[in-house]
This record gives sequence, C-alpha cells and structure tokens, in this order.
Amino acid sequence: MKAVTILGSTGSIGVSTLDVLSLHPEKYTVFALTANCSVETMSKQCLQFKPQFAVMLDDDSAQTLTSLLKKNGCNTVVLSGKKALEEVSESADTDIVVAAIVGAAGLLPTLAAARAGKRILLANKEALVMSGALFMKTVADNGATLLPVDSEHNALWQCLPVANEQYHDFNNKGVRRLILTASGGPFRDWDIETLDSVTPEQAIAHPNWSMGQKISVDSATMMNKGLEVIEAHWLFGLKSEQIDVVLHRQSVIHSMVDYDDGSVLAQMGNPDMRTPIANTLAWPERIDSGVEPLDLVKVGRLDFSAAEFMRFPCLKLAYEALNAGGTSTTILNAANEIAVEAFLSKKIRFTAIGEVIQNVLKGLPSENADSLEIVLETDAKARLLAEQQVALCNH
Ligand code: NAD
Ligand code: MG
Repeated sequence: MKAVTILGSTGSIGVSTLDVLSLHPEKYTVFALTANCSVETMSKQCLQFKPQFAVMLDDDSAQTLTSLLKKNGCNTVVLSGKKALEEVSESADTDIVVAAIVGAAGLLPTLAAARAGKRILLANKEALVMSGALFMKTVADNGATLLPVDSEHNALWQCLPVANEQYHDFNNKGVRRLILTASGGPFRDWDIETLDSVTPEQAIAHPNWSMGQKISVDSATMMNKGLEVIEAHWLFGLKSEQIDVVLHRQSVIHSMVDYDDGSVLAQMGNPDMRTPIANTLAWPERIDSGVEPLDLVKVGRLDFSAAEFMRFPCLKLAYEALNAGGTSTTILNAANEIAVEAFLSKKIRFTAIGEVIQNVLKGLPSENADSLEIVLETDAKARLLAEQQVALCNH
C-alpha cells in the first residue's frame, strides 16, 4: 500500500489523480490533500478519501473546512499555511507526492518532497522552469524519483531508453531530437491580425484538453509549449537545439523521440491526463487509468504542421530564455504568470502577454540560478517589473 499526498487536489490534475486512485483502493491510500481556497470541493474529497490531513492556504478556509468536516463526522485534521504544505510533502508517512499546484506557489512544497527523497509525480512544470538546476540537484542529492506527468514529457519518457531511475541525461544515448507535439490551442487557425481582440473566455476554451485557466491561456499563447521545452531540457539533459516543437491538432501523439538511426518512437493515446497520472503512479508497472481505448478509425488522420514564431511569439521567448540560461527562465515564468493573470482579469490584451514578458526579460539581467535565495529574489523582482509593464499597457 502506497500513501499519496496531492498538492493541489481540487484542480484539474488533482481531480484526475483522485479519479485514478479511486480505481485502486487496494494499492493506494490518500495521506494528504491540499488546496488554495476551494472549501466545498475539498470537503467532498475528504469525505470520500478520508485523508489524514487537509491543508488550505489561508486560515479562514481552514476554519470553514474544519466545521464542515466535523458536521459530517470526518476525522481529517485540517492545517493551514505554506509551511503545512511542506510538512505534508516531506512527512515520513507519505510515499508519493503529486505536484499539481499551478505556478510558482508549487515550488517550495515540491522541493520539500525532493529533499525528503519522495517519488514525485510532477505536473507543476513552473517549479522546474523557475529553478531547473537547483531542482534537479535536490532530486539527485536526496535520491528522489522524479516522474513526469505532463503528457508530452511522460510520452518522451516512455519512448526514451530509461534503464533505471537515473534517466535525467540522454546525451550519448543515440537520441538525436525530442519532438514535442502541440495542439496549437484555440487560435491556431485564426488570422493573426484578429488575435488582439481575443477574450479570456475564448482563450480558455481549449479544443482538445480540459485544464485549469492558467495552463489554458498558456496553451493559447503557446507559452505552455515554451515552458515544456525548458521542462524537457531539465528532465532529459538535452540542449535546446535538440528539442523541437511540431503542431499536431488531434493531440493523439503526445510526443516523439528521434534516434540517430532514423527511428522515431511515439507514444499515443486519447488526450486524457489520467493516462500519464496512472503511468507515473504505477511505474514500472501498468494499471488501469479509466481512459477509453484509443479508436484510430474514429481519429481517422493525424496532421502535422510547423509552429510559427510569428503566430506564437511566446514560444520564441521561451527558447531565448533557455539559451540565455541562469535566472532567465525564472524571469520568463514570473512575468508570464503576472501577464496571464492580467489578461484573465481583462487588464491587458491577449497579444500584450508576450510584450510584457519580453520587456521584463529585457529589463532584468540574468544571473546564476544556483541558490534558492536568488531564484526567489529574481521571481519577486520579475513580478514587480511585470506589474509595472501591465500598468503601462493601460496608459
Ligand atoms: P488548476 O488551476 O485546475 O488547479 C490548481 C490547484 O492548485 C488547485 O487545487 C488550487 O487550489 C491549487 N492552488 C492554486 N494556487 C495555489 C497557491 N497559491 N497555493 C497553494 N495551492 C494553490 O490547475 P491544473 O490545470 O490542475 O494545473 C496544475 C499544474 O499542472 C500546472 O502547473 C499545470 O501547468 C500542470 N499541468 C496541467 C495539465 C492539465 O491537464 N490540467 C496538464 C499538464 C500539466
Ligand atoms: Mg503538456
């Protein structure tokens, strides 16, 4: 029996994870669930999965949850605050930590899991983008097992010659390129001139995947793919010129590995995050995920086309930040979080997202990103500058 902590259990990945766990009560117990402030959903999850701990970010939500659970006779202990997130991640009583908080807020609890040598199921790509070198070193130094939940990286990982748990360097292993597939999001066919007028509602309506708001906007700008290029670099140790992106509108091939001998291995499946979640939960075994078998006749055809930087300037910015190295990707991530939030609250236009990020990258120097202090300090500075850029957009 393995005990699981889910950081961000009320979100899209969190809910899908609980769905897979509910199919295998003989294999997994839930140790802790955590959320920002969605008390109602958390209360239902506690009643169903009976975790030892539930963590809410703020005291008010924690109090409301405590009285709701009491009323329903549930013994889950409710904690609150950021420190509690770290405590349930590093606890000796948990084996697996699912990192499914969105954005930089997930970094510290995920690092805590790495320091405690846990098996980490990583969905929270922003943690890796903002502190790749430090994160990977923490994983290696503490014997943690880092398994990719992001569908592209999970696909790559299934297609790479993984010999044991040390799979973070594929140089000299006959790998020529990694090919990340991207759906292209809701605006892949729009006239570029019209992207100025895109609304948040249109941006979060993804054609193939149902996801949280932030990653949905990231998919529409293709910053999501940019973050994934950076994520692939850190997970698999390959240079940016060995990581390509191709548009594939059906989202059936989740990514590919191109080998020196010309073989290209792909992983396929229905676009449903329960597949990579089940894969990383059970690895090296395979368990049922609840996902429908892939019907290739129904899919009919697989299309591919180039991902153009003209249409998706955020993808270009991500490659540039990766090539610049150091804290550039920390800056990119922080500026993107602020810009996306500003777009969702209708403070800036869709096309201003990339402009804000570009200006923040120009305005801050890149430094070595080898300490947590520098990473957090850079993140804070970049957020501040991004807020200023957002304000300028409105003048
Ligand atoms: P979501 O917005 O649906 O859920 C986010 C979760 O994090 C919620 O439980 C929320 O309560 C919690 N949270 C938010 N802010 C927090 C904070 N400041 N402190 C503590 N908890 C906080 O997001 P999602 O779509 O599930 O995505 C989660 C992560 O997984 C993201 O990093 C995303 O890029 C990645 N991911 C998601 C998908 C997907 O299909 N949804 C696919 C691949 C990767
Ligand atoms: Mg992905």
